[in-house]
Amino acid sequence: MYDTAIIGLGCAGYTTAIYSARYKLKTLIVGAQEGGMGMSAADVGNWPGDIEVRGPDLMERFKNHATSFSDVEMKLSKVEKIEKALSSTELCCLSTSANGRTLEESTTSGEADEIFKLTLEGGEECEAKSIVFATGSNKRHLGTPGEEEFSGKGVTYCATCDAFFYRGKDVAVIGGGDSAVEGAAIAAQSCNKVYLIHRRNEFRAEPYWVDEMEKRDNIVMVLERNVTEILGDGKVTGVKLDKEFEGKDVIDVEGVFIEVGSNPASDIAKDLGCDLDERGFVKVGADQATSVNGVFAAGDVSDASNHFAQFATAAGEGAVAANSVFTYLQK
Ligand code: NAP
Repeated sequence: MYDTAIIGLGCAGYTTAIYSARYKLKTLIVGAQEGGMGMSAADVGNWPGDIEVRGPDLMERFKNHATSFSDVEMKLSKVEKIEKALSSTELCCLSTSANGRTLEESTTSGEADEIFKLTLEGGEECEAKSIVFATGSNKRHLGTPGEEEFSGKGVTYCATCDAFFYRGKDVAVIGGGDSAVEGAAIAAQSCNKVYLIHRRNEFRAEPYWVDEMEKRDNIVMVLERNVTEILGDGKVTGVKLDKEFEGKDVIDVEGVFIEVGSNPASDIAKDLGCDLDERGFVKVGADQATSVNGVFAAGDVSDASNHFAQFATAAGEGAVAANSVFTYLQK
């Protein structure tokens, strides 16, 4: 039986594990993919203490730190299901049911008497007294014709990870947030020409990345335009626009990097009964506690930190979540 099971192997999950281990909690950290969104950060320039660090290198350091504790066990596996098992109070009541007590009467909200059963891919099962969801987010799709057909054949969802495979070629990056603008700036280092296609004429990205992008003379900004179709013949050959750009409504490219944001990976938390906000983020209090007793959430999946998805905020939320788990288990 683990004291806590942390779901997610990204910045929030690893930080929760580091703090949890220092509270001497028997900790499971489990997820299908190591590093989370941090793996797609090419140059991280805002992690305090590192003027510049690659996202995958930072995540490797987080993992090594988290797994350096004997109280932390890491499993690389998808979590298929989490259910509430009978709590210790409920088990106690079952054994005394002859005295006329019911399970409902035994519920003691807020006390640390929950037991959760996790089912991992392949059927392995384990139990934990508390859960921390640090499941992050999944890249949003554009929903345009050709997107699915050419997914993996020129269409990808991570410019910084995949641009290198398109070196010397013309590519398009779609979006106007940090991922798109950073992605365009990084892609411009290896690609011939990068078309940054954004539906507005203002970027929501950090001014730092907008400046970096503007320094590159092989980035062409295609503003106030939407991509209506991704064209191809076995593989991507271009994108079609809703309005002409330089006299044409088609831009010839061999790669399309879709960077239009992410959706919280909250399905498994929802299935366990956690309340979500209207955009699907897991609702948490200042202590990172969800609406379900014994369940916490941290990082991009939660509605904390004003939805400001950064390494620093994910780490902070993970630290708070571990502290809250410790406090909860002491009750
Ligand atoms: P984001 O900030 O949500 O930006 C998504 C972009 O895609 C927006 O510009 C949006 O346009 C556009 N968009 C959304 N749906 C669209 C559609 N259907 N068609 C066309 N365009 C569409 O997402 P993100 O850039 O992935 O960033 C997510 C979070 O991660 C943010 O908190 C960000 O700060 C953080 N992040 C930080 C860094 C960094 O610090 N270096 C790097 C990557 C990500 P509008 O602007 O018109 O809404």
